[in-house]
This record gives sequence, structure tokens and C-alpha cells, in this order.
Amino acid sequence: STHLVDFDPEIATAIDAELARQRGTLEMIASENFAPLAVMQAQGSVLTNKYAEGYPGRRYYGGCEHVDTAEQIAIDRVKQLFGAEAANVQPHSGAQANAAVMAALLQPGDTILGLDLAHGGHLTHGMRINFSGRLYKVAAYQVSEHDHRIDMEQVRTLAHEHRPKLIVAGWSAYPRHLDFGEFRRIADEVGAHLMVDMAHFAGLVAAGLHPSPIPHAHVVTTTTHKTLGGPRGGVILSTAGLAKKINSAVFPGQQGGPLEHVIAAKAVAFKMAAQPEFADRQRRTLEGAAILGERLLAEDTRAAGVSVLTGGTDVHLVLVDLRHSELDGRQAEDRLHRIGITVNRNAVPFDPRPPMVSSGVRIGTPALAARGFGAQEFTEVADIIATALLPGFDDRAAAALRGRVRVLTDRFPLYAADPQRAVQ
Ligand code: PLP
Repeated sequence: STHLVDFDPEIATAIDAELARQRGTLEMIASENFAPLAVMQAQGSVLTNKYAEGYPGRRYYGGCEHVDTAEQIAIDRVKQLFGAEAANVQPHSGAQANAAVMAALLQPGDTILGLDLAHGGHLTHGMRINFSGRLYKVAAYQVSEHDHRIDMEQVRTLAHEHRPKLIVAGWSAYPRHLDFGEFRRIADEVGAHLMVDMAHFAGLVAAGLHPSPIPHAHVVTTTTHKTLGGPRGGVILSTAGLAKKINSAVFPGQQGGPLEHVIAAKAVAFKMAAQPEFADRQRRTLEGAAILGERLLAEDTRAAGVSVLTGGTDVHLVLVDLRHSELDGRQAEDRLHRIGITVNRNAVPFDPRPPMVSSGVRIGTPALAARGFGAQEFTEVADIIATALLPGFDDRAAAALRGRVRVLTDRFPLYAADPQRAVQ
């Protein structure tokens, strides 16, 4: 057979360059992680060739006996991992999972209530030009101006005022636990379903280091590639009573043939998430975020107008608040990029700067924890980041910080056995 490098050197070179980038920099985008080799092997397997519309045991194609095995294992493992009654492992992504749940539970024109995008919500929670904002009426709750936390009394008031059919709890940029029990009480008061989108914190839940939404929500959606550390994809967990509706909303409602190679990789990731090593990695993820939050609130950074929203974090990310700094979000992102640390700028709630510039940076620790970082390394990373955000950042300072980053990347080699080779 023809190897990628021989047939398509342009693409092979781009992949090699990306591997070198991942190895040589510190990945701190809060939604990213490194899929283990075994996950990539399943994802790069011959299961990509198979059509399997339908569900295990009930397919519209012949020859599905082996993908049935893999998909049923994925379903059983994820139910076990989170203690859920039912699971659909077919959504191609987190956005697809959310679209399918809304299609299952709502009619176009019904109202949803979710966290405002500008306050940390996701596009699929009701953003104006997303499907969720176009198909459904949207009411949005926000964080409070005084402590930047979600105010459950505001959620309750909006729920009673707008009578949503679906309340969405979950976030892409929020550093604290949610009160799932209170969300459910509010949903019950107004006769709404509660959907928790745990895409960001699913890995922490799996490790028992974050409250579980499962006992409270009618439906829980997640991605499998963030803290969970698996292949890119989505999952829907629900009560047994809603399973049929959700299954038919995914297929044939929203999707055609499932990606059985990705589903097999999800199964591998769920097995990994049940191991003690995974719990240790999630513990280091939280420890790293806490260390980072503390360092960014030290005297030197505070004097430069740098702060941390809510004064810290309960989860795997820190939201740096630059509203009182001369540095804006874009400049901070550029500075960190220059020294080999990858983050994303992020609007903060009540941001005075435009979204393309913004006054915040979102910094997450899952990928570095996957790389093996513990308290000592996170202390060093936190100091590198804090120093980069201080006044006096010039060419010399940048070179020195880039050197400190290189020491860390060299000490923690990534994909030491070349993942591109291993799947050939
Ligand atoms: N839900 C939340 C809370 C997210 O943060 C994201 C991803 O950013 C998604 C859903 C969508 O996931 P995907 O990018 O796989 O469609």
C-alpha cells in the first residue's frame, strides 16, 4: 500500500510540523488534550470503512457484527463510568450532541434558557446565529457583576418569566462548580427539562473530582476530547425514559452513518478514564489550575492590573481578567505564543474591549497534566506566565522565558513513540 509520506508529502509534512509544534510548546488551551496512542490507533483503524446506520443489533446494513461489538462496549462503558441509565455514543461532536437533544425535546419556536455566550456559555446554548439561536427562542442568564458567579436567583426569575422548555447548564469558560440540584429544582418549578452540558468538566466528573450532574439532569451531553482526553466527538447520557427519543433524534434525525472508528476510540478512552492513572491525572489538572490561579493573584501581577475572575478556580481552567491591565487579551495571547505557551484570548463578562481584542485569557491545565506535569512543573509554568504578563516584557525577557519553556518541553517528551508511525 502507498504510505502517506510517499503519496502526499504536503499533508505528511503538515502533520509532522503539527507534531513538532505540540512537542515543542506548552498547550494550555482549556478545551484541548492529547489523545493517547491507543485512542489514535482505534481512530485510525479499518472501522472507518464501515457503514452502520442504526444501532447495535438494529442496523440498516449488513456486516455490522464487529462494529456492533465495539459500539455496545462504548455504550456500556460510558454508562458505567458516569452511572447513567442510557447512552448514545454516535454524535459526531459536542455541537451535534446538543443539536440532537434539542431536536428530541423541543419544537422550533420553543424557548431555551442558557448561559450567555459573553459570560462563558457555548455557541450551542442559544447564540443568535447558531442553530440553537435560530430555531429556538432564547433567554440567557449571566454571571453577577459583583462576584462573576452564576446567580441562581436570576436563573429562577428568568425561568419563571420566559417558561423555557429546556434549561441548559454548562459552560465553555467559567471557573466554578454549578449547583445542579438548584438548576433541577428551577426546571421542575417551570416544567422544563434540564440538560447539563459537561463537555469541559467530564473528565473531572469521571474521576470523582467534580460534582456529577447525572443524578439531577434529564439529559447530560459531553464531548470526549476535552478533559476526558479521548477522540474528538460527542456523547449523550440520559434517563432510560428519554433514550428512545434521543436515539431517533441522533439517527435518523440529525446524522447518517455513525463514525464507528471514532466510537471505538471513545470506548478506549472510557476504559482509560476508569483507571487509577486517569484519576491521578485529573487531580494534577486541578492542582495545576489552582497553582496558576494563586500565582496570577500575587502582588506583582495584581500591581500590573492582572487578576483572576472569581478569585480562583474549582476546575481545570483559570480566567485571567485584564480589564484593569494595559495589556489586552490579544496582546497577552501573543506574548504567551511568542514564548511557546498556547492559550486563547477570551472576552470576560462585562468586557469593555471588543471581542476580537477582549480583556481576558482562558488558560487550562488538562493537556499539560496529560503530559505528566505535577505541582512542581505547574509552579514553574505559572511563574513563566505571570512574568510574561508583567511590564518590562522585552526581547531579552521573551528569550529567557522561551528557554524556561523549552526546559519543560524537553523534560516531558510527547508521543515518544511516534504516533503517526504507530498507526500505519
Ligand atoms: N459544549 C461545550 C460546553 C463546549 O465548550 C463545546 C466546545 O467548545 C461544545 C459543546 C462543542 O463541542 P464540539 O466542538 O465538539 O462541537
